[in-house]
Amino acid sequence: MLDFLDMRTLLVNTLLICLLFGMLVIAYAIKHKNFKGIVDIGLGHLLIAMGSFLLSLRDYAPDYLSILLANLIFLYGLIRTHRGFAALKGITLQREKYFEMAMLATAAISCVYYTYANANVNMRIIVFSTLFSAELALIARTLLLTSTSHVVHVASRMLGASYILFSMFFLVRAATTLNEIPLANFLTAGSMHSSALLVIQLSILCSTFGVVWIATTFLEHDLRDQATHDPLTQVYNRRALNDIVSSEHSRSMRSEHPLSVIMVDIDQFKKLNDQHGHLAGDIVLKDFANVLCRNTRGHDTVARFGGEEFIVLLPDTDLEQVKLVAEKLRTEIANHESYLVDDQIISVTASFGITSSQAEDEPWQSILERADQALYAAKREGRNCVVTKRPSVISHPQDAKVSTQANV
Ligand code: GH3
Ligand code: MG
Ligand code: MG
Repeated sequence: MLDFLDMRTLLVNTLLICLLFGMLVIAYAIKHKNFKGIVDIGLGHLLIAMGSFLLSLRDYAPDYLSILLANLIFLYGLIRTHRGFAALKGITLQREKYFEMAMLATAAISCVYYTYANANVNMRIIVFSTLFSAELALIARTLLLTSTSHVVHVASRMLGASYILFSMFFLVRAATTLNEIPLANFLTAGSMHSSALLVIQLSILCSTFGVVWIATTFLEHDLRDQATHDPLTQVYNRRALNDIVSSEHSRSMRSEHPLSVIMVDIDQFKKLNDQHGHLAGDIVLKDFANVLCRNTRGHDTVARFGGEEFIVLLPDTDLEQVKLVAEKLRTEIANHESYLVDDQIISVTASFGITSSQAEDEPWQSILERADQALYAAKREGRNCVVTKRPSVISHPQDAKVSTQANV
């Protein structure tokens, strides 16, 4: 069917495609140094280019170059591509590395045997096709595996699926070569073998596109993360809080489930900064945000509202429940010790203002104002305490305060 395709021309074509896309991928890697693995993928392309070049020298160069080295470099190119994708996805390869070394050794021994001891083109094609198929399947597996980052899900899966097809093609090629009449030369082997080069070209195009897609998805995710998270504490920033609030607030109004808010502010933080320096203040802020996150549920939102003031948004939580949460947070924070760089240990307390959205159609701004007033009341009450403010009336300090302790 594809007999009109001249093998040597296809090899030169493969060489050019691999060279061009290999260099493009390496240029991309140089520009995006924070991505691991892309250089390996580019090198993989270049190795396949070199393998194609050596294969195209068949009949002009000695067999150890145009058969043995050419095919080994080809296989090693796929192995480097595999390592690149694994690194890009943050997956550590362990057993696979030994397996790949074993494949290279098998390839070298069989190629020497079927070239010098018992020359057999069919067997060489079967051995290399099977090994290529195995390596392509390994790449597909790595691409389909879930990595620590779920961000690259779609890009990685699409590429993984195409690598399964490439792997299957090489397996079919190995199987059909088994039943083929003995071939005299790889360069005149026929359509199945010219298609193999087309499949390699396709895999280079797919992996180049896949690399850029995966990297772009990472970048997009990073940008979104930076836009929505506070760089110091890694909790949501105020902008993200506004977005979350708008959906949680309308959901709470629709479902008539209460949405509770905790406004929390570190006590005497300015004094801490003055005594221990801003760096110490930053360490305390990070620890503080961690304590808040560790002691709230997955669907609660912790956000830095500004300076040393945080908001915890608790959907489907009524005032009685949020009182318990706030009290737990208060004790956890008071008992927490932060380790400063000079091995000093420091503790802080915080004041809490809490409220809940129980009135129908109450705007978010009015809920927030109430939480702010409650926090202000907690500061007035002597700090390190929780003050509740119900919709419309502030509770009596005796009722409102879940607990009050002297500031330390
Ligand atoms: P109060 O108990 O009444 O809340 O007293 P306070 O000292 O905590 O309150 P105040 O608002 O006067 O001080 C807040 C301090 O928080 C002032 C500012 O220097 C500090 N601060 C705000 N943001 C940061 C930050 O990112 N890092 C550090 N180290 N300090 C910060
Ligand atoms: Mg404060
Ligand atoms: Mg403050």
